[in-house]
Amino acid sequence: MIINRKPTKTIHIGHVKVGGDNPIVVQSMTNTKTQNIAETVSQIQRLESAGCEIIRVAVPHMEAAIAIPKIKEQIHIPLIADIHFDYKLAIAAAEHGADAIRINPGNIGDMASIQKVVQVASQNKMAIRIGVNSGSVESDLLKKYGGPTSQAMVESALRHIQLMHSLDFDNFKISIKASDVQRTLDAYRLISEQTNAPLHIGVTEAGTLISGTVKSALGIGMLLAEGIGDTLRVSLTRDPEDEIRVAYEILRALNIKRRGPEIISCPTCGRTAIPLFEIVESVEKRLQHITKDIKVAIMGCVVNGPGEAREADIGIAGGDGTGILFKKGKVVKKIPEEHLIDILIEAIESDT
Ligand code: SF4
Repeated sequence: MIINRKPTKTIHIGHVKVGGDNPIVVQSMTNTKTQNIAETVSQIQRLESAGCEIIRVAVPHMEAAIAIPKIKEQIHIPLIADIHFDYKLAIAAAEHGADAIRINPGNIGDMASIQKVVQVASQNKMAIRIGVNSGSVESDLLKKYGGPTSQAMVESALRHIQLMHSLDFDNFKISIKASDVQRTLDAYRLISEQTNAPLHIGVTEAGTLISGTVKSALGIGMLLAEGIGDTLRVSLTRDPEDEIRVAYEILRALNIKRRGPEIISCPTCGRTAIPLFEIVESVEKRLQHITKDIKVAIMGCVVNGPGEAREADIGIAGGDGTGILFKKGKVVKKIPEEHLIDILIEAIESDT
């Protein structure tokens, strides 16, 4: 599938370029108390290893803003400060070295406060993410459209875009998320026709691992397939590392970006001769440090497994106490069942 990206302007979030022809950027958000520097840094470092390219942290008070420089010293990816309501926190985050801030101008306050934030962002060459979501649409628009419809969200975003332009500021990107897929799709499709600002896409508060993954795969996946989106966050009620894994699976499924092993495993059936679910989970965990794009098959029986997983670079299949290691559908050797996982991991590690 060939995807034609909708043209957008390039902005810089720290050293990462977002928009234009630049690769789609994967983001997440910490769930630690930002002022707890050790825990926040440790989570960000784990996220970096998982492939996170930009991190957002909550800045609900001054203590969190003041922690930013100490956090930044110990991480390697740009940091976005997430601000709600208090423009002074946005200014403090900028002055403490945040690479960008995420605000919703609608809840930052009056024009004078927004102007101060934009001025500091300009002085610090810092980008702003204007984050509109269905819960933050202004009351007059809710009245006009009868609720937080996609049109209401788009009109709210356009107001903010105009406001930024009136302040002669264009170093911003837009997000316009709802928690249901259809409204998110409609809103992004509409806004992408009306701005060339880079778009940060996602389905907000998507939910638990399964439901959130499905909603995100559909919402983010459909937008990406239509060429919409320059950076993304999968939003799950889970450890943020899972958000990164799901994000890369979406990008891989669309052939946009491939990172780390792709596990191909059979659904199991009456012929399955090994504890496949446990084996797959264990292999997946043990391969998390591998960044090379490699297809790994884990199949339930030696009779059909290698043939069914012919496309895999390497794989194992189990059967009655013994299993096999195979490469590109051809058997390499027989292995006692208890060594299947170790031998597969060794073979992958020596290959990468
Ligand atoms: Fe069944 Fe074997 Fe196919 Fe797995 S690989 S679904 S065990 S036939």
